[in-house]
Amino acid sequence: MLSKPDEHGKFGIFGGKFAPEVLMTTVEELEAAYITYTNDKGFRTELDSLLRTYAGRPTALYFAKNLSKMSGAKIYLKREDLVHGGAHKLNNTLGQCLLAKHMGKRRIIAETGAGQHGVATAMAAAVLGLECEVYMGTEDIERQKLNVFRMKLLGAKVNPVDSGSKTLKDAINESIRDWVTNVENTYYLIGSVVGMHPYPLMVREFQRVIGKETKVQILDAEGRLPDTIIACVGGGSNAMGIFYEFLSDDAVELIGVEAAGKGLETGEHGASICAGTEGVLHGMYSKLLQDEDGQIKQSYSFAPGLDYPGVGPELAHLAESGRVKMGSTTDEETLNAFKILSTKEGIIPALESAHAIHYAIEEAKKKAGEQKDHLIVVNLSGRGDKDIYTVAQVLGDRREAGYV
Ligand SMILES: *Cc1c(COP(=O)(O)O)cnc(C)c1O
Repeated sequence: MLSKPDEHGKFGIFGGKFAPEVLMTTVEELEAAYITYTNDKGFRTELDSLLRTYAGRPTALYFAKNLSKMSGAKIYLKREDLVHGGAHKLNNTLGQCLLAKHMGKRRIIAETGAGQHGVATAMAAAVLGLECEVYMGTEDIERQKLNVFRMKLLGAKVNPVDSGSKTLKDAINESIRDWVTNVENTYYLIGSVVGMHPYPLMVREFQRVIGKETKVQILDAEGRLPDTIIACVGGGSNAMGIFYEFLSDDAVELIGVEAAGKGLETGEHGASICAGTEGVLHGMYSKLLQDEDGQIKQSYSFAPGLDYPGVGPELAHLAESGRVKMGSTTDEETLNAFKILSTKEGIIPALESAHAIHYAIEEAKKKAGEQKDHLIVVNLSGRGDKDIYTVAQVLGDRREAGYV
């Protein structure tokens, strides 16, 4: 099965172009430029070279021996944590910044919640000699000081957004306002497989390198395809990036793991597919967290990258069709997996990625009884250095409360 958007940018019923009328020509221009340049040999050579020499690709596929031994399946980790910047996000920002440069747009704007996409955008803009401005809610600026400082060091301007809830959705509104006003010289860089067409398609294509490498590497290591591939899902870009290459390999089970936060039943989570409803956000029709009146609800996860009230349309479609299975992991379960990977493999994972690790351990235990050598690949989307304060705080709180 291959997944392709129709002429309206829709994957099944999801996706589309819900953009202000004044942006329609710009969005169409972008689509045309994207097709032209990504089919251009010079563009592809330049991007490949950046991915290799700047981002550090190909990333390793690591056989996690100790994790495998304790869980009963063979578990491999696709090491996106080793990409420059510490996560898969740079694969996309390099691709889009290069596209902007070829389109003659010298000014990049982005919006960021936790700051990780802002940092990856600032890096790519710096290396390609582009101007960069990042919109961020004042609430988020306060919570993510380290990433704000990083962006500034990388030469980006951080524009505080003080309206509404002072978080990501307000920063998105401001970015779109800026884009409408400055379309001539400005490129709007979206950080996941979300937003209006062609962004979900473009971002998936720029992240697809993860799955392409994984396929070659697992065939080389094991002589066969994996039984299961597991990835965490915020907007869905690291998941689509590793899944896409395996969509038509029907025997390969694909599992996306959303943030169950404090528990799906508490309403404090980031599980748009598992527990959301259909609606429009960020220029797309998809699965969202919203109330009965269509007002977007605040999502929650202690993993900042999963704290988003929507999900990419292609993934929503693949989940609905049954090709991709969805699950969710709570903060509590994730913390446990975070400790296990750190102590058993010497890898401190991003809290986002630790959601997928937890799910993989559970899946491995389940399958161990049924099949010998069940082969699992987990996309380790990022490293956990950014999360150590969150973890320290959670553990500290418990110690004070007498739990640990
Ligand atoms: C941003 C981020 C995510 C979530 O984004 P996706 O688009 O769903 O991949 C996951 N892991 C890490 C490390 C991130 O930085």
